[in-house]
Amino acid sequence: MKAVPRSEVVYSYSPRHSPAEYAMLGELVLLQTEDALGGQIESEKDSLDELDWSKVDGATGPIFVETAEPGDTLVAKILDVKVEETGVIVTVPRYGILGERRFGSSTKIVSVKEGYINFEDLRVKANPMIGTIGVAPESDEIPSGSLGRHGGNMDVKELTAGTTLYLPVFTRGALFAAGDLHAVQADGELCVSSVEVAGEILLRFNLIKEKHPEWPILETHGWYALLSSGDTLDEAVTLAADAAVKALMREYGWPFEKAYMFGSLAIDLKINQVVDLKKGARAVMSKEHISLNSLLI
Ligand code: CA
Repeated sequence: MKAVPRSEVVYSYSPRHSPAEYAMLGELVLLQTEDALGGQIESEKDSLDELDWSKVDGATGPIFVETAEPGDTLVAKILDVKVEETGVIVTVPRYGILGERRFGSSTKIVSVKEGYINFEDLRVKANPMIGTIGVAPESDEIPSGSLGRHGGNMDVKELTAGTTLYLPVFTRGALFAAGDLHAVQADGELCVSSVEVAGEILLRFNLIKEKHPEWPILETHGWYALLSSGDTLDEAVTLAADAAVKALMREYGWPFEKAYMFGSLAIDLKINQVVDLKKGARAVMSKEHISLNSLLI
């Protein structure tokens, strides 16, 4: 097994980063991750005014995946996501979906115990998920707080243990990195943060050679989801729908009109988050209607 400590952190996805570790296909990889605020908030007295913003949204890595070449699909099977027992939630003036309202910065520490997050007298069932996960883009350096076709800060609540993520490979070795765990997050992540928490990701890699997805694809037991992003939520949703309808055309050999019709019956458009540098959406399709092969080009 390869273990990568949380000190091996990058704040962007870039083909120019030196690998923190090398992994063979099928090998177990354990990533230790810092919370999205870089572990800087340890009590509710810690002020965001003193936060070093260059140390937020870090991702552990990058991992050079042996034999991964541009044009391939990197398959990341998420075996386990463990989170620590203390998480932090913040509000930041001007941020989040209600950023135009007047409000202050605030921090809240919550406990994550026995499968629940305790918020005041309320409990929310924990569902540990990975906020940022991706590979190096083709040429640009993309901040780890942003997102795109390479993955990144997608903040998808369904990206949990037991799922598989398919990412397009743009550079030799893929240069995979991940972090920004949330003990739980709702669709939207409306206040700009969720239960930000340090932890560990256990995963293994595989490859599909010479085929790649248009957008990252998430696989669960029953469905596939295309994970899109755009400058607006409208743009993100449109891109997800377009890619999903094209996948239906490939699956059944249908003309556009027929796939477009069937999309109204069988493709769910859902919000990932509305608060990051780009907005994220997903188009969810049942495995009864689509095969992985039609989601790759
Ligand atoms: Ca995030």
